[in-house]
Amino acid sequence: MPTPNDIIWMQKALLLAKKAAELNEVPVGAIVVREGEVLGEGWNQPISSCDPTGHAEICALRNAAQHDKNYRLPGTVLYVTIEPCTMCLGALIHARVTRVVFGAAEPKAGVLASNNCILHAGFYNHSIKWEGGVCEDECSSLMTEFFARRREGRKSLKANTKKSD
Ligand SMILES: [Zn+2]
Repeated sequence: MPTPNDIIWMQKALLLAKKAAELNEVPVGAIVVREGEVLGEGWNQPISSCDPTGHAEICALRNAAQHDKNYRLPGTVLYVTIEPCTMCLGALIHARVTRVVFGAAEPKAGVLASNNCILHAGFYNHSIKWEGGVCEDECSSLMTEFFARRREGRKSLKANTKKSD
């Protein structure tokens, strides 16, 4: 069950997701928390940083690991607005994160609730507790609005191009 604190931290992750949207990146935000302290923050930025690994979770893990001066982050909780993908879940395992809390499920790429969960593969020496659906509506509507705006933008771009023909 999500705790009241889970909701507070997810709200902070949502602010980071909005930051991504402002940069025209798919709006996903993440924070790493240990015992009530924020260790790291990240937002989705693969396009602006020319980095295929620039997902919110990876950015937050990097930020937290630098803060801790440790490549492992035991005792931490990672909050992310959208269900993690394989790459991010792999990184979370490497970082020894204790718990993951996500907002909205990602039916295509999500690997905790939506698709085969690699945590059950049995070959990892670290397991992660997880929880989904925290502030789900806010997290998913941020995505829906972003993609709707992007489609609108493309349509008006096409209309303008036609006009100038
Ligand atoms: Zn990812």
